[in-house]
Parts: sequence; C-alpha cells; structure tokens
Amino acid sequence: MSHLLEVKGLEASYGPTKVLHGLDFSLDKGGVTTILGANGAGKTTTLRAISGMVTRKGSIALDGAELTNLQTSDITRKGIAHVPEGRGTFVRMSAEDNLRLGSYSRSDKAGIAEDMERVYNYFPILKQRRNQQAGTLSGGEAQMLAVGRALMLQPKLLLLDEPSFGLAPLIVQELFEILKKINVQEGVSMLLVEQNASLALDLADHAYLLETGNIVISGTSESILENETVRRSYLGY
Ligand code: ATP
Repeated sequence: MSHLLEVKGLEASYGPTKVLHGLDFSLDKGGVTTILGANGAGKTTTLRAISGMVTRKGSIALDGAELTNLQTSDITRKGIAHVPEGRGTFVRMSAEDNLRLGSYSRSDKAGIAEDMERVYNYFPILKQRRNQQAGTLSGGEAQMLAVGRALMLQPKLLLLDEPSFGLAPLIVQELFEILKKINVQEGVSMLLVEQNASLALDLADHAYLLETGNIVISGTSESILENETVRRSYLGY
C-alpha cells in the first residue's frame, strides 16, 4: 500500500509549551490507523496539528503535497476532514443543514444531494431526524451527524477524535461497524484517537503508541495487541 499521509519531525506547541517532540509516521491509503496513549500524551494535539489548528513545525504531506504551511480551511479542501472531540455540530441548526454545511466548499449541487443520500444510507437515523435541531439529538445521533458532516467533504482522510466518548456500548458498537463500512466501501482512510484501545485496535490495521509527545511503539494492530506494555497499560490483561 502506498502512503496517503507522510509526517516527519512533527512538533506542536501551545504557547511556550511543546507537546509533540518530533513525530515521524505515515498513513496507508485506504487504511485505518489508531493513536494510543494516556491522557495528555498528545493524541488530540496530533490530530489538531495535521489539520492546522495548532502551531506546528516539521513536514506533513498528503499525497506528496506539503500541507504544513496551509491554513485549516485549505487543508480541509485538500481532503482532510476533522471530527473533533465534542463533535462541533451547530446545535441550533437542523441535522440536514449541518450536513449541508459540510459541503460548503463544493458547488456541485447534484453531487451534494447524492452524497447526502449516501450519508443517510450509512446513518438511516439521521434521515429520520433531518429536520430536528442538532442540539436535541442523542449523543449517538450527534456523533453520527458529525461523521456524516465530515463525509460531505468527500475526504481522503478522516481524523476521528474519541468518537465513542460518552456513548452507550451498543451505540459505540453500531458506530464502529458503520465506520468500518465507510472505510471499506468509500476507501476513506482514517486516523483514530480512541480511549477504548481494544475497540480502536479492532477497527485499525496499524497503531502508534504516544507517550508524552513521542512515538514509543508502532506496528500492525496484531503486533500491537501482542505488545506487553500495550496489554498491561491499555488493554488490561
Ligand atoms: P486526552 O486523552 O486527555 O485528551 P491527549 O493525548 O489527547 O489526551 P492532548 O489533548 O493532545 O492529549 O494534550 C497534550 C498536552 O498538551 C497535555 O499536557 C495538555 O495539558 C496540553 N494542552 C492541550 N491543549 C492545550 C491548550 N489549549 N493549551 C495549553 N496546553 C494544552
């Protein structure tokens, strides 16, 4: 598999505080990669650095094109859709208007309508809720809306930050099954940050373990599942 995203020497800071200390990693085209790590390790910051939401240094290339000097809106246009922690949907707007907003950078009306149907196919509940204010959706529905909105960008890469956060186990299971389907059927690559390591490793084919802003272990999900440190600290067996 060829690489979709190539990250080299990535550093990120909040003011004077550096939290990523030179990460090197790559993402396969069509693959799902997860970043594991304790609270505060820098997982969210890694996603924010890729989408240009935090001060960063180093090199980030998508399909060989450098992104490091671009702003978030341009990075989005190049095909990286970020589903942030906390979802970031517009609570007073209807579910459907939120989806429509996801396609703001596109002008092909027919294509947008088609993609909306495609999102409704993945998330039938959103079709039922299309006219409902986003703020009144359940946690699971709101997360589905956030993913659906990201899909409206026709992304090459989906950055998913804690998609299971605050959701009931059955809803999480449903959501992850749909993410798998989206990955396989649409060929969208994913970079996933997820507290639930076994869930993350189940969906992902590759994983990186982050400790205080450094990658300490990397490999296929199978090899990571067998790693003693990962098992003890993140899988609990
Ligand atoms: P969690 O699972 O708790 O979200 P994380 O691995 O995603 O953890 P980050 O949120 O990336 O970790 O945070 C990495 C470090 O950066 C932490 O020490 C955190 O306190 C710090 N940090 C995060 N956001 C900010 C901010 N806006 N300003 C200053 N420091 C921040």
